[in-house]
Amino acid sequence: YFYTQSSRSRKDGQSGDGIPTFLLLGPSGSGKTALVTVLQTRGNVAKSEAKEADEEVDEEEERSRSAVNGHSRDALSPTRLSQIASTTRMRLLPGTPLGSNRYRSENDYEVTASKKEGAVYKIIDTPGHGKLRSEQAISYINKTGIGLKGVIFMLDSSAMDTSAADDGEMAKDTVSYLHDVLLNLQRRPKLVKKAKAEDVRVLVVCNKQDLFTSLPTTAVKSRLEMELERLKASKKRGISAVDAKEDADENEDETVLGGGGEQKFTFKMLDDEFGVTVEIVGGFVKDEEENNDVKRWEEWIGGCL
Ligand code: GDP
Repeated sequence: YFYTQSSRSRKDGQSGDGIPTFLLLGPSGSGKTALVTVLQTRGNVAKSEAKEADEEVDEEEERSRSAVNGHSRDALSPTRLSQIASTTRMRLLPGTPLGSNRYRSENDYEVTASKKEGAVYKIIDTPGHGKLRSEQAISYINKTGIGLKGVIFMLDSSAMDTSAADDGEMAKDTVSYLHDVLLNLQRRPKLVKKAKAEDVRVLVVCNKQDLFTSLPTTAVKSRLEMELERLKASKKRGISAVDAKEDADENEDETVLGGGGEQKFTFKMLDDEFGVTVEIVGGFVKDEEENNDVKRWEEWIGGCL
């Protein structure tokens, strides 16, 4: 997973240059930009290194977009970062355990390298704005050739209360975004040749745990399951209303989160029935004193490498 090994042949979970890639999703304001910055700082990513990745990314996309919009890349800056996805080359905090190290001896090159210089990976940071989500964010789930290893879905735990000042609009929006992401992951093996559900793992990051208005992580988890069940049930009703019984059953596995069964939606069900593994971990990118609690997220990333 290091530059020196980029010539090795491409497998699932590795991009064309051999660097594992993570897709960073979540609504605007959840802390995605702040997270990338903090992880870069902790991983000692040289500015030039990160920039280089940004430059090389999406050349092809950029061309097609320019053709459509009539804009050149330069004309799109400086707002482009918030409106289109951008890829950043990252390094993990040195010493973070790597999943692949479990089977290696301590003297192995990669173990040593990960202790001195953090393992290299990439993050595709996506715009969270509603209108751009399907095209600029979720669509990466089914793209081949980007070496997708994991999806990090970031949410603001202080906006997950349905009785919040905004009547829970933010919470609803977050749940519907997560729903679409998980449904795309569930369908991925059908749409992407040779893809297996287990190839892409999911981390739901419950950010802003430093705020006293935040729901604790376990409460966020049960709220998500409850709201996802609600969406599942209404989707299911919609389908059985229009389809004959057999068609409905088949259709539901494709289009209903967790499939068409009668049980209530749980994350465990998604794992058991579709192999989509979701972990839900709390923390914060920065509190008032600029402290952070991101270690367990780094460890999750390391576990995927
Ligand atoms: P993005 O739209 O998802 O990229 O979100 P940003 O990274 O721009 O963050 C949105 C706002 O939330 C900014 O004002 C951040 O400083 C703030 N923020 C991000 N993470 C945290 C956190 O863990 N705790 C607190 N209290 N604020 C945070």
